[in-house]
Amino acid sequence: AAPDSPPWLDGLNPEQRRAVEATEGPVLVLSGAGTGKTRVLTTRVAHILHQGLAQPWRVLAVTFTNRAAREMRARLGDMIGPTSESVWLGTFHALSLRILRRHVGLVGLRDGFTILDADDQLRLLKQIMEGQGLDPRKDPPKVAMALIQRWKDRGLTPDRVPAEDARGIAGRRALDLYGRYQARLLELNACDFGDLLLHCLRVLQDNPEIAADYQRRFRYILVDEYQDTNVAQYLWLRLLAAGHKNLCCVGDDDQSIYSWRGAEVGNILRFESDYPGATVVRLESNYRSTAPILGAASGLIRHNGGRLGKDLRATGAAADDPDAAPVRVRGLWDGEAEARWLAEEVESLTREGHGLGSMAILVRAAFQMREFEDRLMTCGIPFRVVGGPRFYERLEIRDALAYLRLIAQPDDDLAFERIVNKPKRGLGEASLQALQALARAQGVPLLAAARDLGTTDDLKPRARKILAGFVEDIGRWRDLRDGLPPSELCATVLEDSGYVAMWKADKSPDAPGRVENLEELVGAIAEFDSLDAFLEHIALVMENEGKAEQDGITLMTLHAAKGLEFDVVFLPGWEEDLFPHRRALEESGDAALEEERRLAYVGLTRARKRAFVSFAANRRIYNQWQASLPSRFIDELPEAFTEKASDTGLYGAVTAGFAEHHGGWATRHPRRAAVSPGTGSWKARDREGEGDDIAIGQRVFHQKFGRGQVLANDGGKLSVNFETGGLKKVVAGFVEVV
Ligand code: ATP
Ligand code: MG
Repeated sequence: AAPDSPPWLDGLNPEQRRAVEATEGPVLVLSGAGTGKTRVLTTRVAHILHQGLAQPWRVLAVTFTNRAAREMRARLGDMIGPTSESVWLGTFHALSLRILRRHVGLVGLRDGFTILDADDQLRLLKQIMEGQGLDPRKDPPKVAMALIQRWKDRGLTPDRVPAEDARGIAGRRALDLYGRYQARLLELNACDFGDLLLHCLRVLQDNPEIAADYQRRFRYILVDEYQDTNVAQYLWLRLLAAGHKNLCCVGDDDQSIYSWRGAEVGNILRFESDYPGATVVRLESNYRSTAPILGAASGLIRHNGGRLGKDLRATGAAADDPDAAPVRVRGLWDGEAEARWLAEEVESLTREGHGLGSMAILVRAAFQMREFEDRLMTCGIPFRVVGGPRFYERLEIRDALAYLRLIAQPDDDLAFERIVNKPKRGLGEASLQALQALARAQGVPLLAAARDLGTTDDLKPRARKILAGFVEDIGRWRDLRDGLPPSELCATVLEDSGYVAMWKADKSPDAPGRVENLEELVGAIAEFDSLDAFLEHIALVMENEGKAEQDGITLMTLHAAKGLEFDVVFLPGWEEDLFPHRRALEESGDAALEEERRLAYVGLTRARKRAFVSFAANRRIYNQWQASLPSRFIDELPEAFTEKASDTGLYGAVTAGFAEHHGGWATRHPRRAAVSPGTGSWKARDREGEGDDIAIGQRVFHQKFGRGQVLANDGGKLSVNFETGGLKKVVAGFVEVV
C-alpha cells in the first residue's frame, strides 16, 4: 500500500505535485521566478526516497552553487531525516570531482592530485609560453587562457577542438598551448577547475562500461537552474541519464545570465527534442512576491524578444496583501545621496519590524558596493558582502592603498614589498633579496635601502636603474602630496606607475571590474581633504571589517543573487551605461542588452515584499562628475506597479519630470537616443533648447558646486571651472546663468 501522503506533498499546488510525482522519464519544469522550481526539486528527492523508489546514493541532484547545495541538504534533512545525507548532492564541479577521484588513473592523474586556482593556472601557462619563446607582454597568457576555458566549457579536449575553432595564427597557437598546458598539468599531477568536468566527461565517454555503471547507479537525476548549464555540463548530464532517462531539469529561460561563462540557454530550449516524450510542466503561481513586484518584473521582461513567454500569477500570502506596496523608484542627486537615502530606508524598515537579515542590496558591478559599505559603516548598520571580498579588501584596492601608504609613510615596508614589482618592473628575486638583506643589516626601511642600492654598484646596472626609478617615483609623488587634492594624487600615481594600465591591458574577464574598482577608489578619496585623513578612515574601516557580521543586510552582485529571496531588495544604480552596463552594450548589442534585462528581472524577482529601484543623476567616475540618465529599464517598468519620486527638484531642473517631457536629453544623449526614443517620462525637465545657448566664458551658478565659468559646451554638457571645486562636468539643466 502507498504510504500516507506526507505534509510536504500536500503543500504543493497541482502542477507542482505533478512535477514531483512524475518520477519516471524525462521531466522539464520550465517556469518563471519564484514559482517553486527549487522547492519542487527538493520535494521530488524527498518523494523518491520516501516512496522507496531508490536508495539515497542512487539519486544525483545538481545545484548551481555550493551554498544552494547546503540549503537543499538542510531541507531534505528536515523532510526525511538523516538518510538524505547519502544523496549525491552538489555542484557540477563537486560531483565531477567525486566521480573523478575513483578513476584518476584513466585520465593520467594519480591519487592526491592538486586542483590549481586561477593564479596558478596563469603562472603555469605563462611558463609554457616563455618556453615556446613567446613574449607574455605581447601575447598575454590570459588571452590564451580565456580561449582554453571556452573550449573546456564546451567539453573539448585539445584533440577534439574543431579546425574552424582554431583558425589563424593566434587560434592555432592557442590550441598548441592548450595541448602543452594539459600535458604539463598531468606531469604535475594537477588539474584546473574546468578539468574536473572535462576529465570526468572523458572517463565516461571513453569507457562505456564505467558509464554504464554510473547510468545504472544514478536512477534519478535532478538539475536546478538548468538555463545556465554549459555544453560540457549538458553532455555530462546526457551521458549519465542515457540509460533510464529519469532526468528532471528545472529552469527559467528568462533568468539565463551566465552566457559570458559559456552557458547556453539553448540547452533548455532543446530539452524536448533531446528527450522525446518528456513531461513538460509549467508553473504559473508565484509564491514569492507581491502582485506589484511581479507585475513590474513581468512588464520589464516582456521587452525581450525570443522568449518562451510565461504568465505569472501572484499566489499565496504575498499576493493576498491588499496593501502591497508598489515598487518604489527613486531618483537621487548623486551616488552619495543614493547611499544616504538607502541607509535611511533601511533604518525605517527596521523600525517597521523588518529584520536586516532579510534585506539585500543587489548591484550590477562590484565597485558599486563601496559607497554603500562606507555609508552602512558610518550609520552602524551591520552588513555582509557575499561572493567576494569587501571593497577595501580587494586585491587591486590593496595594491593601490599600498602605493598611497608608502607615499604617506616611507618606512611602510609591507606596502613597499607589495608594490615594488607591481606592475612588473623587471626586478628579479636576487635583487629583492639583496635589498632585504641590506635593509636588515643597516636597520633601515626598504625604501631607504633601495635608495642606497640605486646609487651604488651592489646590483647589476639594470636592477639598479629599476630601483632608482622606483625610489624617484615615490619621492616625486610625495612632493605632490601638498599641492594636489588626494584623489588627484591617487589618480596620478595609478596612471604614472602603470598600475591602471596593467589592468587595462589584462584580458581576463575580471580585469575591467578591477579598473572600475580603482576608479571608484579615486572617487571615494575625493571625499577627503588629505591623504592622511583618508588613510585613517581606511584603517578604521578595515578594523571594523574584522568583525563577522552574520546578521546584517546582504550586499551582493545580481549574478550572485540567483535563486535567493529576501523580504526587501534594493536595486541601486539603474542608470544607462551602468545598468545596462556599457561594456555589455558595446560587446554584442541586442543579445547583451537582453541578458542585462534578464539580470534586472532576476533582481526584482528576488523580493518578497518590497523592492526599491534607484538611480543617481550624477556619478563621480574617476574623479570626474558625470551626468547619468535613468536606465531604460526604469521606463520599462509598468507605471501601474511603480511609484516614482525624485529628490533632484531641489537642484533646479532634474529628471523625474514625472511630467511628460520628451526629447531633450533623449536626443542629446547619443546612446539614449539610439535605443528607446520617447519611451517614457524620465527626461529632464527640459526647457526648449536649454543649454545650447550657454556660451563659453559664461558665468554660471550650480546648486552643489557654486559659481564657475563655462569652458566648454558639448550639446548641453558643460565643462565648468568652479571657483571652489575646480573643473567639473555638469549638465546645463542644473546650472543657472548669472
Ligand atoms: P527562482 O526562479 O528564483 O529560482 P523558484 O522557482 O526556484 O525561484 P522557489 O525558490 O522554489 O522558486 O520558491 C519560491 C518561494 O515560494 C519559496 O519561499 C517557496 O518556499 C515558496 N513556495 C513554493 N511553492 C509553494 C507552495 N506550493 N505553497 C507555498 N509556498 C510555496
Ligand atoms: Mg530556484
